[in-house]
Amino acid sequence: MPGKLKSPELTGEWEKKLYDIEKGKLEPEKYIAEIKQYTKEIVETARNSESKAISAATRKIIGKCPACGADVTENKKGYGCSAWKEKGCKFFLGEVAGKKLSAKQAKDLLEKGQTKTIKGFISKKGNKFDAALKIAGGKIEFLFDEDKKPQ
Ligand SMILES: [Zn+2]
Repeated sequence: MPGKLKSPELTGEWEKKLYDIEKGKLEPEKYIAEIKQYTKEIVETARNSESKAISAATRKIIGKCPACGADVTENKKGYGCSAWKEKGCKFFLGEVAGKKLSAKQAKDLLEKGQTKTIKGFISKKGNKFDAALKIAGGKIEFLFDEDKKPQ
């Protein structure tokens, strides 16, 4: 909604115009035309924000859920199965070892079952490490180069 809608100045403006009409300084037709124009603007603004909300709702599909085969879509926290409501599927790719996966990495994981080496994970002990991710039986596993295993 436009900020103008709640603005006290605006209300004052309309009130003054009504007063002017009473005093014969303003034609009622003109006033009505202005209100119509203003209403049109508000409706258009509302329509625009509505279409924005719709495009946010049709989220980007990342891949197929390894647990149930439904679409996995991107959301604020990560990548989740879109059938969580219908089927109660709990598949979700959130942060992995302190790192949010990029859409590309999530896509690789879902399509190929494995990502390339991803840098900058943080182990439970606070050490940084690099690893590829693998998906097996709906679970995420780390794949390490032997010499790079976190201590
Ligand atoms: Zn699922």
